[in-house]
Amino acid sequence: MNRKLAGHIRDGGHAAESAREAARLWTQVVESMETALCVVGADGNIVAHNRAWRELHQLLGGSPGYVHDGTRYLDALERASALGHHIESLNSSFETAVADLLSGRVRTLTLELDAREEEPSRSLDVRSSPLRGSAGLLLLEHRLLEADAAASREHDHAELFRLLANSMPSVMYRVEIVDGARRFLYISPAVEELFEVTEQAVYADADVLWNQVVELDRSTSFHALRTASTSGPRELDFRVRTPSGVEKWVHSIARPHRDERGRLSWIGVLSDITARRRAEQRLLESESTYRTLFETVAQGVVYQDREGRITAANPSAQRILGLTLDQMQGRTSIDPRWRSIREDGSDLPGEEHPAMIALRTGSAVRDVVMGVCRPDGSRVWILVNAIPLEREGRVEQVYASFEDITERVELSRELRRQATTDFVTGIANRRSFMERLHQELERVRRHTQVSSVVASLDLDHFKLVNDTFGHSAGDAVLQHFAGEVAREIRASDFFARTGGEEFSLLLPETTPEQALALADRLRRALAERPAFHAGTKLPVSVSIGLAKIESADASTDELLARADLALYDAKHAGRDCARYRLRGTS
Ligand code: GH3
Ligand code: MG
Ligand code: MG
Repeated sequence: MNRKLAGHIRDGGHAAESAREAARLWTQVVESMETALCVVGADGNIVAHNRAWRELHQLLGGSPGYVHDGTRYLDALERASALGHHIESLNSSFETAVADLLSGRVRTLTLELDAREEEPSRSLDVRSSPLRGSAGLLLLEHRLLEADAAASREHDHAELFRLLANSMPSVMYRVEIVDGARRFLYISPAVEELFEVTEQAVYADADVLWNQVVELDRSTSFHALRTASTSGPRELDFRVRTPSGVEKWVHSIARPHRDERGRLSWIGVLSDITARRRAEQRLLESESTYRTLFETVAQGVVYQDREGRITAANPSAQRILGLTLDQMQGRTSIDPRWRSIREDGSDLPGEEHPAMIALRTGSAVRDVVMGVCRPDGSRVWILVNAIPLEREGRVEQVYASFEDITERVELSRELRRQATTDFVTGIANRRSFMERLHQELERVRRHTQVSSVVASLDLDHFKLVNDTFGHSAGDAVLQHFAGEVAREIRASDFFARTGGEEFSLLLPETTPEQALALADRLRRALAERPAFHAGTKLPVSVSIGLAKIESADASTDELLARADLALYDAKHAGRDCARYRLRGTS
């Protein structure tokens, strides 16, 4: 304000002229002010306004020349398009707000302006005060404010929270506990989905939620929580039964909060964890089922790591293998103490164990029969399946299951033994001799330089032994004879009882001369060591027919027939001797 103006104002009241001058000056002052001013009468119409207000009105999207003294203030605001947001969507509350301002019920009104693109959000602040000295007139000062960034962020946060609270499946709440009584200060709409009660019902009576908590969890989980000394967030899981009778698992996490006035409340979130709980329960149950299975199956089960070391073994595995878990853990398949063998009795090298093959190839190995040694030296036969277990495409361990088939293996071995051996003497029978002879004939055909001999042996006047001393004495002679032959032959020779008192010998890698020498040795041995039965000496002699195996022999029958012809020769020559037949002689 300049000096001249100030002097005029001071002198203004003294003369009418000066009064008019003063009024003119005041008008100039008000017109040049940057504050947008409006004077509004009790009827809500504008009584006076300044340039800044007209300009502001245009800035807010009002049309030039619209605002006059006498225009309704509300109409003027409604003409400002930047206020469209208030006017369109909140018309009635907008109207009420303006009415409250004009009636003096509120002193300030903040109207947010519709933000245009890339413009900071702004608001129109209206402050009203009664115009001094003129009853019923209000002076409205308008200020355009750039909304404080922090305030707008806070607004954004509040809006975000509202969106979250309305869209989250979890229930957010703030509860106050006064003298042991709960009172919800806030609860989000999700309460309806989870607890089947309305927000209003919870505000009216906090216990509608508490009453749903199942009795057991009230006295255990909640009790434990109350006595816990933690200062951080309190967490607990509990069950509720909703009004429709559904049981649900609820997870609760809450933090104490003290406001400026020192009032304590709890802010927390309640979530439905029924599905997760059920899945966990199922997992627990299946885990325990599998554990029980592992512990109780009659099958042995062992787990081995990549290097073949045993990491776990069930009780059946321990029983079958005769080892404790401690003894087994860390032992590998290639450990020599297993002394593993195949069904045919040959050694099973460690690398060939089903588990090791499964680890190496990544494929399951099924139904392998193997014999392993127990610490007490006994042999146990097992039928093994080994299944590689992969993780991320890599064989991490192997699962081997096996059953004890010792009885079965021993029985079948016995049956096989019985099928191939002679009951009276315990040596091979005709069937296995024919099999072995067949192989030898094949071998001779492949390697023509090989000389092998076959012999037919027949005890002399054996009928007489039976007739004189009885059948069991005859048996004793047969057994004695078998023992004597076994003593004279080599391990590679094959000896069998092929008839009543008839025996056959296969002598590989033997010339006819060597065979004749053996026959002599045998006859001498028999003569020197006669059989005894029931204290009675039972002398017996044998006649032997020899035939060389020829690659030209059409069959084993042809070969045996030649040996029998030689035997016939020996009998005719007076018995207790050996004869040799060349091929092609009859
Ligand atoms: P040869 O010198 O001509 O061979 O006279 P041999 O008496 O030995 O011949 P033969 O074929 O007449 O008699 C064979 C006898 O062998 C008849 C039978 O009583 C006896 N024999 C056959 N199998 C058995 C057996 O398993 N046990 C006993 N004790 N005797 C048997
Ligand atoms: Mg005979
Ligand atoms: Mg005989």
